Amino acid sequence: MAANHLGVELANDPDIEITVIESKDVPVIGVGEGTVPRIKETLDRFGISEVAMLASCDTTFKTGIKFSNWMSRESGDEFYYHPFSTPYPQGFDVTDYWLSQNPEYCFSHISESFALSEQDRCPKRKSSGPYVGAVDYAYHFNAGKFSELIASNAKQRFGVKHKFATVKDVILREDGGIGSLVYSDGESEAYDFYLDCSGFSAVLLGGALKTAFEDKSDRILTDSALVLQEPSTPDSAIRPYTTARAHKAGWIWDIPLTTRRGLGCVYASKYMSDEEALGEFSEYVGRQLQIDEVRKIPMKIGFREKFWQKNCVAFGLAQGFVEPLEATSILVTDFSANLLAKRFPRYYDDIPQLSGYYNKVVRYTWERVIDFVQLHYCISDRRDTQFWIDCTEKTKLSEELSDRLERWSIATPKSLDFFSAFDIFGVENYLYVLYGMKFPTKPIALSDVESTKASEIVEAARKQSESLAGELMPQRAWLTELQQHLKRAGM
Ligand SMILES: Cc1cc2nc3c(=O)[nH]c(=O)nc-3n(C[C@H](O)[C@H](O)[C@H](O)COP(=O)(O)OP(=O)(O)OC[C@H]3O[C@@H](n4cnc5c(N)ncnc54)[C@H](O)[C@@H]3O)c2cc1C
Repeated sequence: MAANHLGVELANDPDIEITVIESKDVPVIGVGEGTVPRIKETLDRFGISEVAMLASCDTTFKTGIKFSNWMSRESGDEFYYHPFSTPYPQGFDVTDYWLSQNPEYCFSHISESFALSEQDRCPKRKSSGPYVGAVDYAYHFNAGKFSELIASNAKQRFGVKHKFATVKDVILREDGGIGSLVYSDGESEAYDFYLDCSGFSAVLLGGALKTAFEDKSDRILTDSALVLQEPSTPDSAIRPYTTARAHKAGWIWDIPLTTRRGLGCVYASKYMSDEEALGEFSEYVGRQLQIDEVRKIPMKIGFREKFWQKNCVAFGLAQGFVEPLEATSILVTDFSANLLAKRFPRYYDDIPQLSGYYNKVVRYTWERVIDFVQLHYCISDRRDTQFWIDCTEKTKLSEELSDRLERWSIATPKSLDFFSAFDIFGVENYLYVLYGMKFPTKPIALSDVESTKASEIVEAARKQSESLAGELMPQRAWLTELQQHLKRAGM
């Protein structure tokens, strides 16, 4: 992904050559199948057609996330959505009306995609153009196939070179930057600028440049995942959303692809043993799983103190990681690789200026990502296990999150509460999660005129959501028709 971003911005510069070095001995992590809508814009920028994306990666459409069990049984609602479509029908903010008139309904009913999600519909019409839907959407995909698709695009479209070698040692320059790489076969190579995409091991930025890792496990308690793939039958319905079902010490993800489901049980090892997690997972999957059927992935929550040091910038897991609840990892890589590509240094002397700004922006982004993921845990009313008691009563909040929650207990969030262009999650995202989880707030009293107008808009939005669901095809049928069409066309 980073090579594609650099390719878009720099491929025409004859002085710049991009090489991806990958180890045959160190496998990729191979998970990461949920995305957010920004990915459409990115793929389009890379020059990848949506049809290629749909045809080659077992891709399905994602209109949001369905959260269940994140609140206590007493709260009434069993689930809520965090959809990608706006909570402002016809552009109006009906939050205060909704909260004062419909306290019993969860807020995501206001979304245009509510009914289509409940009825497993495809967010695109047959006539929809590339990367455009009847409602906004992202994708679920097979991570391995997606990597192959974007890797071949980087090579063919941008002339990126690709070689296999395992970095065993790093020689530093006099100024402390990276001078050259020494490979396991004894060869060595020097480049001017390095992107560390080596996963959790962060071989260059963490290993050679010794950039500290800021641990955030005091804010997000989950640190392990059990991962499983279950085949799906060719005629089964495909849900247009990721399911995130909370359990006693974490949650389970369920990501539908065309051929299988990607499932994972995320848990906090301090509160739940591997065996207990396997039990929770088995209950969800509906059969007794054996420990050797699942893959255990330990997760380090936090990020590097700096993301860009000297002539090295880290991306992906080498940069940082927050558990996968809101599918933020590919998003932050996408965002930060785009930022680097647009501000790529042509001279060494430019690095201090550019890296200072870059580090400030990416740190802000990571901090807000952690805030948003933590929100799902810290405002829950669940107190049934020590995990939930600690998440809600004992974990530390950032100053920003704490300040925002205090403000939103006085008045509903507005866009004016977000002062930075680098708030990756904005007012619309917060509205869905806060009021999906019944966060206590004081809606302002509306005049009769405002109330009548809001009530008409809400009713029109409900009808629109129902009518859209009636009009759109089931997701499975839409994707099957596309595959049949491509087969007939010999593609
Ligand atoms: C449980 C879990 C669930 C996730 N779910 C999501 C999700 O739904 N959505 C999302 O956006 N993200 C998700 N992620 C994150 C996502 O998996 C990663 O962002 C993505 O896979 C990118 O990983 P990476 O390339 O940084 O690291 P890796 O996949 O680990 O790749 C590292 C690469 O570096 C190479 N390498 C390592 N060491 C060396 C060396 N010494 N010499 C040469 N090469 C080397 C390896 O060969 C490999 O190619 C999830 C992560 C986890 C752990």
